[in-house]
Amino acid sequence: MFVEIYQRLLSEYGPQGWWPVTPPGERTPRYTGGPRDSAQRFEVAVGALLTQNTSWRNASRAIENLNDARLLSPAGIGGAGKNALARLIRPAGYFNQKAARLETLARFFEDGSAVTRDNLLALAGVGPETADSILLYGFGKPFFVVDAYTRRIFDRLGLLDGRAPYERIRRIFEGEIPRNARLYNEYHALIVEHAKRFCRKRPLCGDCPLRDRCRAAGAGA
Ligand code: SF4
Repeated sequence: MFVEIYQRLLSEYGPQGWWPVTPPGERTPRYTGGPRDSAQRFEVAVGALLTQNTSWRNASRAIENLNDARLLSPAGIGGAGKNALARLIRPAGYFNQKAARLETLARFFEDGSAVTRDNLLALAGVGPETADSILLYGFGKPFFVVDAYTRRIFDRLGLLDGRAPYERIRRIFEGEIPRNARLYNEYHALIVEHAKRFCRKRPLCGDCPLRDRCRAAGAGA
């Protein structure tokens, strides 16, 4: 069933080109198929932290400010100073806390630490969703990203308990679909797209492409 859901979402929405990164010479992250070099991999990590508790649009505005200030690098963020950094990332919210966490993240990358799940989870402010986003979208490692949209949609479909712990849901996905980073990448992006288009807080079930597979179909508008 998990593979079928993926195929339906892919045929409905097409490839999503995650994660958005800033092309050379530009200032705004775009969906161009993910990072191509170490600078863009670091940008993914920064974006994963900035988008915590806020929309991608707000995180993207913070990244634009970092690009304008030419500080979107481990050395740039590490040397900016907390107050200046907080001002630049203000659009992403929680800017003092996120500035401190970005400094820690920048040091981690500057030190050349191994980018493993355990090492990322040891950093302040990096929980499993952020760590898995960095590993999957920044480094192409097969860790399935579970977010609130994943919980909402698959709970409504009747395929899992949306209140279950993060690791349990991650393992359900990783057990149900082939272990492949490209697939994990696209699947999570499609889940986000589906949550925005149809499976909103108040779902638009009428034209939903998953309607005939959904236990909760018709519960919304
Ligand atoms: S039918 Fe409704 S509840 Fe089910 S996945 Fe579609 S939008 Fe969500």
